Amino acid sequence: MDVFIGVGSNLGDRLVNIQKAIDCLKASVGIEIIKLSSIIVSDPQGGPPQDKYLNCVIKIKTYLSARDLLNTLQTIEKKLGRKRLVENGPRTIDLDILLYGDDAVNEEDLVIPHPRMRQREFVMGPLKEILNSVERIA
Ligand code: ADP
Ligand code: MG
Repeated sequence: MDVFIGVGSNLGDRLVNIQKAIDCLKASVGIEIIKLSSIIVSDPQGGPPQDKYLNCVIKIKTYLSARDLLNTLQTIEKKLGRKRLVENGPRTIDLDILLYGDDAVNEEDLVIPHPRMRQREFVMGPLKEILNSVERIA
């Protein structure tokens, strides 16, 4: 399945956090990284006053179910020291499933496509960059 993951960080060394998240994804069984977008700077939206974010989007191939993938992403978030203190508060790393092939999931704790992605330029910009780029030149 082709899957797009949204990545954000605004706490600690943001670039290192994103690099570590990529390393963890690479090391995960059943996940192959296909493409990385540029990393962009974005203003926080909602939540308490907080630093700017670094964001990017990662395209992967996986045979994990959406549920297993969510579990894997949450394990990586915990490993990188993410704590849920306040809603929309600062975070070392945020890993969201944006698209899971063409599937739609509507469960209490898992909604795909990600419900807020369309109005978020920091998601749509990097996502379009990947979607508009050439996949592979023989
Ligand atoms: P947010 O990413 O919205 O800022 P969190 O990362 O704290 O907030 O996630 C809150 C909850 O969102 C998670 O516990 C997860 O169950 C749920 N969730 C629902 N849909 C998704 C999705 N597509 N990707 C990641 N998490 C999701
Ligand atoms: Mg999240």
